[in-house]
Amino acid sequence: MATYKRAPADIKKLVANVMKMWHKPLEDAGVKLSILTAWAPVDENDQPKGRPIVHQGRAVLAYVKICSLKQRVQGVGDAELIIDGEYWKDLKATKKKALIDHELEHLKIVLGEGDQAKTDSEGRPKMKMKLHDYELGGFIDVGQRNQYESLECEQIRGVFESDPQLFFAFVGDHVPKHKKPKEKTPKNPPLKLVEADRPASGPGS
Ligand SMILES: [Zn+2]
Repeated sequence: MATYKRAPADIKKLVANVMKMWHKPLEDAGVKLSILTAWAPVDENDQPKGRPIVHQGRAVLAYVKICSLKQRVQGVGDAELIIDGEYWKDLKATKKKALIDHELEHLKIVLGEGDQAKTDSEGRPKMKMKLHDYELGGFIDVGQRNQYESLECEQIRGVFESDPQLFFAFVGDHVPKHKKPKEKTPKNPPLKLVEADRPASGPGS
């Protein structure tokens, strides 16, 4: 079973900075976040057994959710942000910032008349969860067998076609050289799934 710790000052500071930079409506509404790190139990060699945060059956690297009115009354905060502590500690600064940006993007202030933030009976800002603009899910085996006819390929093509410059212009630049295929790219290369949002083996809901 996972254990939790209150987030240290450096995480809180980074979250505040990212909120100020890219999520001003949250800052303006005075959103209070309860930030925790989650830790998987360890084995006899002090190695983590599994991953501490599971969302909809999948391990994720971070997770944000809006606190209920009851929790807010208890003083928990307006939303809860949980970060996989083991993953976080080895992460470079730019990736930490991107992960926090992702989580904060999920939180949207509910606006009322005159674009004022609506509040609950505690006077705390009402929020709603923004869903991902895209989600990728599929089977590599199916993608390889059916290639361009597969739903797997269609999803990736859909993301690409929505804005080719957005990701694919630079995603390849960051593939480590030793992982790049040496041979010429075949006409119909076998499909390789792009890492999804927060897969068990990579980066978070
Ligand atoms: Zn997400």
